[in-house]
Amino acid sequence: MKEHYYVALDIGSTSVKAVVGEKFHDGVNVIGTGQTFTEGISKGMIRDFELARNAIKDTIKKAKISSGIEIDEVFLKMPITDTDFRTGEEELRFGGQSTEINGEHIEELLETIREKEMHSDKEVITVFPNYFKVDDLHEVADPKEMMATQSLSVNAGLILINRSLLMNAVKCVEDAGLTVLDVYSDAVNYQHVLSESEVELGGVVIDIGADLTQFGYYERGALKYAGSLPVGGNHITNDLSEAFNTPFEVAEKVKHQYGHAFFDLASDEDIVKLPQRDGEPDIEVTPKDLADIIELRLEEMLLDVFTELQEAGITRVSGGFVVTGGTVNLLGVKELLQDLVSEKIRIHIPKQMGARKPEYSSAISTISSGIMFDELLEYVTINNY
Ligand code: ATP
Ligand code: MG
Repeated sequence: MKEHYYVALDIGSTSVKAVVGEKFHDGVNVIGTGQTFTEGISKGMIRDFELARNAIKDTIKKAKISSGIEIDEVFLKMPITDTDFRTGEEELRFGGQSTEINGEHIEELLETIREKEMHSDKEVITVFPNYFKVDDLHEVADPKEMMATQSLSVNAGLILINRSLLMNAVKCVEDAGLTVLDVYSDAVNYQHVLSESEVELGGVVIDIGADLTQFGYYERGALKYAGSLPVGGNHITNDLSEAFNTPFEVAEKVKHQYGHAFFDLASDEDIVKLPQRDGEPDIEVTPKDLADIIELRLEEMLLDVFTELQEAGITRVSGGFVVTGGTVNLLGVKELLQDLVSEKIRIHIPKQMGARKPEYSSAISTISSGIMFDELLEYVTINNY
């Protein structure tokens, strides 16, 4: 059997990440990863083209070495910024002729929906089926191999993103010598962070990165709502830097080493020395002092997410909240959240060896999207058992 690998690329605000993986049972087996910290990206957007392109090249080089695989094609993920959501319907008619539904029928339907959605400033990045109907009967998730005589129809979700944002991300990846096979919005990717029961019951994924806090709500297996707020770990570091008059770089290091998101549990015994920005003598603080600042900002960010969800009419989250992204490396995030909501809370850290960092969740779930669409459209049906 020919080996088939998926490479996902995540151009994040602090680092570019790549994950090389393959389908394994119902999940993703990770073969290798690459990560490069860069100043070329901020707020999920390319700020310095050359820096970003070099970071992409370096990341792919690292992923090649760590996986032992040649990489020239990638799946690119886009953040949920400047993003619109629509619904579309389309139908294929068979005029009484018995037809076995295959991937090509599904692709034709989804492509027609994509082509009908034309805008000057926005581009469709992902079209995903909510449900199909064969001969106008009941709803099915995947109609392949079913027989139809009259029609196959689909109700699909569309995700559109700012065209310039997309074009420049794709150009940057192509200029790094890569081919972009497809682009998936994190709004579709995050469903793969949820377990089967969470995505059925209705679960929220929150990805707290550096400049962005992104979230999605999924219910009965489908995306219901997604959004993002322009805040993240960098704001926490900034607050620490301001509160204790210490350089950003110091605040960032200290946050990693002693940071705690839940004041009540943070230690007040360790002593942390903080150099001062104006050359004054170092000051001494405890992790509890740091937690005081960290908790305040993180709580505000989470409350803003809850407010937006509530405004969108999402008031009961039976499947619970799943939190991931680099900022959940902080201790105490679960305890803080549990203090704010009564729903079940889970911190998501990928379990795959070599990728056990919450900041890899977006890239790994991009691979899951790649596998999902390949199977839906019958591009390849590979199982590396
Ligand atoms: P974004 O998603 O916002 O575009 P990104 O994808 O680059 O950015 P991530 O890699 O998910 O973001 O997370 C980076 C953030 O996580 C940074 O703010 C960083 O300070 C924080 N972070 C990483 N490791 C730790 C740690 N051990 N303790 C505390 N914070 C951490
Ligand atoms: Mg990110």
